[in-house]
Amino acid sequence: MLDSEQWRSRVVADGQTLCPACQSMNLTMGACGIGSMTVHQEYVCEDCQYEFAALFGLTGCPRAQRADFLVGDTVAFTDQHLHERIGTIVGINQKTASVQCNPDEGHWGVSFALLRKVVDL
Ligand SMILES: [Zn+2]
Repeated sequence: MLDSEQWRSRVVADGQTLCPACQSMNLTMGACGIGSMTVHQEYVCEDCQYEFAALFGLTGCPRAQRADFLVGDTVAFTDQHLHERIGTIVGINQKTASVQCNPDEGHWGVSFALLRKVVDL
């Protein structure tokens, strides 16, 4: 098992996230939460089932894709007025998700790349 210092230096040196328990790179990414300066990314190792979370600087988060989202997910995005919005996915379309932020408004069609899943940090 790598300690966090060893793990960090391996990840930085290789440019690849690896399992701290068995050093496998066969990882599945889970929820991704974005703070003001950091990204919290959860992983599960496919080889030993070890679960861990990593904190990255804000450039380290992979772009969100359609497959990352499900109806019912809580998501955040920035609207055209640069307001931070939080809502619930009510539909998945080809290029966008339909997001309900406020029951008094219609749905927002938001590109998947602009959506961030909201998780508790
Ligand atoms: Zn592992």
